[in-house]
Amino acid sequence: MIFRQLFERESSTYTYLIGCTETRETALIDTVKTEVPKYLQLLDELDLKLVFVLDTHTHADHITGAGELRDLTGCKTLLGEETHSACVSVGLKDGDRIPVGNLVLTAIYTPGHTDDSYSYLLEQDGELYIFSGDTLLIRGTGRTDFQNGNPEAQYHSLFDKLLRLPNHTWVYPGHDYKGWLVSTIGEEKQHNPRLQLGDIRAYVDFMRNLRLPNPMLMDVAVLANRACGK
Ligand code: FE
Repeated sequence: MIFRQLFERESSTYTYLIGCTETRETALIDTVKTEVPKYLQLLDELDLKLVFVLDTHTHADHITGAGELRDLTGCKTLLGEETHSACVSVGLKDGDRIPVGNLVLTAIYTPGHTDDSYSYLLEQDGELYIFSGDTLLIRGTGRTDFQNGNPEAQYHSLFDKLLRLPNHTWVYPGHDYKGWLVSTIGEEKQHNPRLQLGDIRAYVDFMRNLRLPNPMLMDVAVLANRACGK
């Protein structure tokens, strides 16, 4: 497997490149439009063929590179079928398998941050990787106060889905604001403060009282992302 974790500074977004060593087919998860030239350069340098661009959800803090990458490379763009974006190539549902050469990503529906939030699971060479978008962050969880966010749904996505993955599963989130790169399910279960609140009621209360400011790009980004970043 060819794997790269890329970082966009403005929105602290992680983008993941996952490529098949044998077929050179490659997927990108959560791209940022301003970084498209960098992705194209890296794909070219590593001799990779982009087949899928996936988003974990409709983002409010940056504009996706999906539409532009599809225009430039002919790749398919994937997002959950719950999305309010009409221009994706394929709408995913829970359990869908996405073949990237000899690798397979499995879509897991994890609503809560938004109603179209998905996580992507990859199993390769005995290792498990979860690309958790903004559902599970390192020592945090994604806010649930806009875009049909729902703290109850997020609690179930976390406790009934992601935290049931084996403890050794690598957690690669959609963002990090403190410089953490990767964690594991076991580590988050033990040390993520939001997973220690006790029960669903305490979690929902906590999330409802966060009162965060809206992301700077929110009005522009959500509209643009419903149009695949155009
Ligand atoms: Fe988000």
